[in-house]
Amino acid sequence: SNPATILQVRDLAVSYGHIEAVKGIELDLKQGEITALVGANGAGKSTTLLAISGLLKPQRGQVLLGQQDLTRLAPHKIVQSGVVQVAEGRATLTTLSVAENLALGAYTRQDKENIAKDLDWVYSLFPVLRRRKDGLAGNLSGGEQQMLAIGRALMAKPRVLLLDEPSMGLAPLLVQEIFRIVEEINRTGLTILLVEQNVRQALRIAQHGYVLENGKIVLADSGSNLLNNPKVLEAYLGG
Ligand code: ATP
Repeated sequence: SNPATILQVRDLAVSYGHIEAVKGIELDLKQGEITALVGANGAGKSTTLLAISGLLKPQRGQVLLGQQDLTRLAPHKIVQSGVVQVAEGRATLTTLSVAENLALGAYTRQDKENIAKDLDWVYSLFPVLRRRKDGLAGNLSGGEQQMLAIGRALMAKPRVLLLDEPSMGLAPLLVQEIFRIVEEINRTGLTILLVEQNVRQALRIAQHGYVLENGKIVLADSGSNLLNNPKVLEAYLGG
């Protein structure tokens, strides 16, 4: 079966001053799939995510969630519509407890019973967060703060989760663990756009992938085809 498109990016262009970082790209996220966006440092991956989540205003183009145009909405409206970004570099509130950080993720929701269920689910995905729930987020390790940032985004009950470099700066064992958890989150049916410099791992778990170079999409294919593509092998996977 061919899943429906849930989020479309059309001719998206984003500039910093007169530097055009993203130069008219197209992305299609299929409902329930992991889509990987890979590329070198400075290719424009983070810029793309920031434009989708409304934190940067694009020069042109559109972001559509189903029929809804998100392009000119304020960031909190985009979160409310169901598109939620987990920031690169964690960005947890270090002077609040782990449990308070997670509660903040759900602040726009009214459905108390489901919030409690989702909290339990987040704690089962990340048992360390349950053990440390009353401790300050600032006392967590870098990897644990990354888990908390993902957990907090999940508490918003997203329809589309945007993940910016979840494996960045993690020890190798933790990198494996994060990719396993991203797959587990996806198995609940959640659509994920995964930005990664860890190209091999990202393409392994992604149904679909895009390769971004200098602000342009240069390859788009299934994750497995990209993993075996000679250009990808040479440029990103060490031959
Ligand atoms: P990385 O993995 O290193 O974050 P990336 O693929 O996410 O790379 P971006 O961070 O989106 O790339 O950067 C795309 C381009 O825009 C780069 O040339 C970068 O130098 C430039 N850029 C990013 N942020 C700014 C900014 N705030 N001001 C000016 N130029 C920027």
